[in-house]
Amino acid sequence: MERISWNQYFMAQSHLLSYRSTCTRLTVGATIVRDKRIIAGGYNGSIAGGVHCIDEGCYVIDNHCVRTIHAEMNAILQCAKFGVPTENAEIYVTHFPCLQCCKAIIQAGITTVYYAEDYKNHPHAIELFEQSGVVVEQVPFNKEIFQTFAIN
Ligand SMILES: [Zn+2]
Ligand SMILES: [Zn+2]
Repeated sequence: MERISWNQYFMAQSHLLSYRSTCTRLTVGATIVRDKRIIAGGYNGSIAGGVHCIDEGCYVIDNHCVRTIHAEMNAILQCAKFGVPTENAEIYVTHFPCLQCCKAIIQAGITTVYYAEDYKNHPHAIELFEQSGVVVEQVPFNKEIFQTFAIN
């Protein structure tokens, strides 16, 4: 019997979360992990009770949709809301984090970022991760895993 690796397992979780995204521009998922346990997850979407991009269209300013809270931020805020420490945790994201999320990740004490796809990788984000000693590693995700491990 084939066994899914931890990296692919957590990356699969982030991809599953991305299917909950309500922004049509990009669907992103993020999973925060500590000691091989999932402690939080998020996807990019509107604030609770807000209107959704999929219903009302994106609210674009300077070529960014400002309606949504990013997946990484949502996962970190879920920890804040429920009092779950993020220090020394790891985060698995479907796309390379934007500059704002990069800063939040560093400030939350997260030590490792695993991302599946490059996305406008901001040079300053790369620089800040390096400066802060945050390990950033690309983990390509194989979506066929959903078929391989499907239970019939
Ligand atoms: Zn949007
Ligand atoms: Zn972001």
